[in-house]
Amino acid sequence: MSHHDPNCLFCKIVAGQIPSRKVYEDDDVFAFHDIHPWAPVHFLMVPKRHIASMAQIGEADQALMGRMMVLAPRLAQQEGCNPYPEGGFRMVCNTGTEGGQEVHHLHWHVMGGPRPWLRG
Ligand code: 5GP
Ligand code: ZN
Repeated sequence: MSHHDPNCLFCKIVAGQIPSRKVYEDDDVFAFHDIHPWAPVHFLMVPKRHIASMAQIGEADQALMGRMMVLAPRLAQQEGCNPYPEGGFRMVCNTGTEGGQEVHHLHWHVMGGPRPWLRG
């Protein structure tokens, strides 16, 4: 696969070199359950191509980012988030160290389900 970083944890998950509980996959996007969920539903959506963070996003990524935004509500519902407005979900994209990012492959957290949650 091009744009694969052999040292990147999420590139390895996308490539199946590290197992994950898959939520969704297409040519460009991969989604899988977070290994340490904060909420009853907590999965991560990543571009398959290695992009370190939102700080690296450019004009050429508009369609990819748009696709991920459109996918999120569909996957949230599929994974058991309750319907809006009583239910809903939260999306978080930590960017850079001060933004709380630990894994440097762009990922959207999608969290939902009944409260209380472990965090947030
Ligand atoms: P960040 O702090 O970078 O926004 O979030 C990284 C997320 O990746 C954390 O919520 C963490 O639990 C999750 N994570 C770290 N390692 C793994 C792993 O090996 N598998 C899965 N499924 N999630 C992971
Ligand atoms: Zn990567």
